[in-house]
Amino acid sequence: MSVLVFIETAEGAVKKSALEATGYAAEIAKKTGTTTTAIVIGAIDAGELDSVGKSGANKILHATDDRLNVPSSQSYATTIAQAAEKENAEVVVLAKSALTDAIGARLAAKLKAGLASNVTELPDLSNGFKVKRSIYTGKAFAVTEMKSAKKILTIKKNVFTPEETGSVAPIEAFTPTLSEAEFAIKVTGEEKASGEISLTEADIVVSGGRGLKGPENWGIIEELAHALHAATGCSKPVSDLGWRPHHEHVGQTGIKVSPNLYIAVGISGAIQHLAGVNSSKVIVVINKDPEAPFFKAADYGIVGDAFDVLPRLTKAVQAAK
Ligand code: FAD
Repeated sequence: MSVLVFIETAEGAVKKSALEATGYAAEIAKKTGTTTTAIVIGAIDAGELDSVGKSGANKILHATDDRLNVPSSQSYATTIAQAAEKENAEVVVLAKSALTDAIGARLAAKLKAGLASNVTELPDLSNGFKVKRSIYTGKAFAVTEMKSAKKILTIKKNVFTPEETGSVAPIEAFTPTLSEAEFAIKVTGEEKASGEISLTEADIVVSGGRGLKGPENWGIIEELAHALHAATGCSKPVSDLGWRPHHEHVGQTGIKVSPNLYIAVGISGAIQHLAGVNSSKVIVVINKDPEAPFFKAADYGIVGDAFDVLPRLTKAVQAAK
């Protein structure tokens, strides 16, 4: 028996959320007296796998079929399922993402396993296997008892910090058996939504709302974002008005972000906006109205005029560099 964790990568690097999932898997392994195996799929930069061992994996399987260099839910689900069978894994852990949303269901069907998504805490193993999940776009929690022999969990970002172990995990080559049917969907090209930092991957997001008054004022958002090496986002009305492109719209009907730091400027904090940002680790709100609802969800708040506060904040960040 073992716990298997999928290591999602982006541009040859291990994603931070994959290390969170590794630490999570290692904790389950510790509780159940077993070991953690990580499965990495496709090409990866040298040295990147060190962090996987340090986050708690005892062994790493690396599937290096050239066809796997472009992520696809079909071939990845088959590869992970075969790795799970090889390792006799009872629990498979994945960090929640657009890719793992598509992999999870396929994997559950292949392994005849139960699937719990958006898990926010370690499972309660005192009486069965119970997991706490975030539901209704973060507005509520559900506790789900998993009764299937095999279990697949997707872990919400930023809810688990792995303990650094300092160990290096041995890497084993893994060759899955893949038919051409696994590659029926072909990715013919990739286009970045913008030349800047990806909103879903960014550690820091600076987001602007209708309080910015117009697109001509976005310079102050971009300057702060640039100084912090952050991605830029916006509220829905801002993209509806055409002030910013739609792919920057954050919220229930837009992109869901989970950065370490979310800075909301001139955004009131409607529930539909909060649904897209409530997985952020730290939220800073800048609004001239002290009664703005966003302050209730904020870790830090600045009551002030964005046109006064932002340039000063940017200057302070630049000076601190
Ligand atoms: P406003 O509500 O107009 O707020 C502007 C804020 O700026 C105010 O709090 C004001 O005090 C402040 N302000 C004004 N001037 C300044 C200044 N100089 N300095 C500092 N602060 C200032 N919204 C989303 O964002 N994302 C979604 O995904 C989304 N989905 C929706 C889905 C549905 C079905 C519905 C009905 C609505 C949805 N909305 C969504 C819209 C949402 O309800 C709000 O209307 C919207 O988030 C408000 O945007 P805003 O905060 O930018 O604008």
